[in-house]
Amino acid sequence: MIDLRSDTVTKPTEEMRKASYEAEVGDDVYGEDPTVLKLEEAAAEILGKEAALFVTSGTQGNQIAVLTHTTPGNEILLEEESHIFYYESGAASAFAGVQTRTIKGERGAMDPLAIAAAIRGEDQHFPETGLICLENTHNRAGGAILPLENMKGIYEIAQKSNIPVHVDGARLFNAVANAPYSMNDFTQYCDTVQVCLSKGLGAPVGSIIAGDKDFIKKARKWRKRLGGGLRQVGVIAAPGFIALTKMRERLSEDHEKAIELQAGLANTKGLEISNTVDTNIVVVNVKDLNVTSDQFVSALKEHGILAVTFGPTLVRFVTHYDVTMEQIHEVVSTVNKMISK
Ligand SMILES: *Cc1c(COP(=O)(O)O)cnc(C)c1O
Repeated sequence: MIDLRSDTVTKPTEEMRKASYEAEVGDDVYGEDPTVLKLEEAAAEILGKEAALFVTSGTQGNQIAVLTHTTPGNEILLEEESHIFYYESGAASAFAGVQTRTIKGERGAMDPLAIAAAIRGEDQHFPETGLICLENTHNRAGGAILPLENMKGIYEIAQKSNIPVHVDGARLFNAVANAPYSMNDFTQYCDTVQVCLSKGLGAPVGSIIAGDKDFIKKARKWRKRLGGGLRQVGVIAAPGFIALTKMRERLSEDHEKAIELQAGLANTKGLEISNTVDTNIVVVNVKDLNVTSDQFVSALKEHGILAVTFGPTLVRFVTHYDVTMEQIHEVVSTVNKMISK
């Protein structure tokens, strides 16, 4: 099987497995796991924030950020197809007790003027706007990189109204690998950020949230409340450290594979590429084949290729280090044969 469902399917490398075996550990709830402390320190530095916290998943990291920044009854502003709104099982309302107000973006980027217009005033009828969430790269926009100017524009408006900005940066390292900007260029325009170690970076488990010291102190407590205070967690922080420090540079290879896949599938009759491929995601529209995405994904599976549905006629492919360029070529030729039958 050639698995292009997600970059989350990447398996830990030899080096990661070895690091896990050899990790020095302690009880992290007592602050005594040296491997976690090392990971959190490195992450804060790389993300350009005062402090960082290791969490079990991207969803947990995002939800801890929502919980830490808001109080029940607040309204949070976020993009219409953002992960926090679309794919986190309603957690923001279930746990933080906030209401979500979505704003339609253009390739994932919300217009700063629309944000300004949506921020609530003093009227007693209104909920308070407690948080603005951005997503970079934007998953449902096909891995689109949010322009730096857009982040800057929104952050300036947020600061004027004293509203924190959280970036769901599950794939922010992919943006850094493919934009002429550094991590700091992006994170200067947010208060807090979540990055996944378990996607293209290849760690088996884990995400990082980063922000100022006070935020991380409160976030740590929310993590504990959610049952995320783990003990000898160095065994998973050790591969996370390798992901964070050694796997970032190679993300551009995934982008080359995505561009190759896009080029190949764009030449296939009946398929239309529906996203601009900024990073490692290719979204294909199969409507001209008169099939649904479910039918197309099933047919792919019979031919040894895994992808996911992304809408009634949309199919998503994600490249990562466990697929080779040869396999990308194989996917293109198999899809061509499959369709011409
Ligand atoms: C994958 C993803 C997450 C969630 O990560 P999990 O570790 O699967 O919970 C959050 N945001 C975005 C944009 C993602 O793509």
